[in-house]
Amino acid sequence: MADKGILIVISGFSGAGKGTLVKKMLSTYDNYALSISMTTRSPREGERDGVEYFFTDKEHFERKIEENGFIEYASYCDNYYGTPKAYVEEQLSAGKDVILEIEIQGALKVKGQFPESLLLFVTPPSAAELERRLRSRGTETEDVIAKRLARAVEESNGIEAYDYIVVNDDLGSCVAELHRLVDAARRAPIRRSTFIKEIREELKGYVKGAE
Ligand code: 5GP
Repeated sequence: MADKGILIVISGFSGAGKGTLVKKMLSTYDNYALSISMTTRSPREGERDGVEYFFTDKEHFERKIEENGFIEYASYCDNYYGTPKAYVEEQLSAGKDVILEIEIQGALKVKGQFPESLLLFVTPPSAAELERRLRSRGTETEDVIAKRLARAVEESNGIEAYDYIVVNDDLGSCVAELHRLVDAARRAPIRRSTFIKEIREELKGYVKGAE
């Protein structure tokens, strides 16, 4: 049976370029699967239902919470966002490394539930660059930009909970660095418990007089 994949959480300030990074990871390497979240926020121009998100309303979202259909969910800037459970479980079992692109409250819930998950925090090189990227998107109102910058201040206080912080200055090198971190994580004993158990048992077979 294939080893289970790694549950990877990628967070970062809104405008850090996570979306672009994740797309590039998926198109460059074949070991990743992306979890599509459900949200109650309205689609931005060009966003399609079932591609960027599953867009839904508050009633449906709350029903799914009651049915225990999410691995985690959180409220962010007045909207719900959640990770549907079924897809993540299927893909991990199939040996895929599943990426969740979620904010910090959700990331902490995932770590609590799955201690072997890998938490990566992506940041632009500076606050000035973050503001520039948020504005250059051209899809957000001043009010939304202000909310997202305020939220970035809050999120900056939680960075220490992550396993690694990665600066997104150049897209290509950032993607390569994220991939290297995932690969290194695969070798951590917490994710190799089956192998460790097996080799321990095998070794015992070589010890004379051992049962
Ligand atoms: P946006 O509205 O810019 O697409 O996303 C806002 C924030 O919600 C981002 O930080 C994004 O990573 C986060 N987010 C997206 N999906 C989920 C989810 O399923 N759960 C949680 N906790 N956060 C999410």
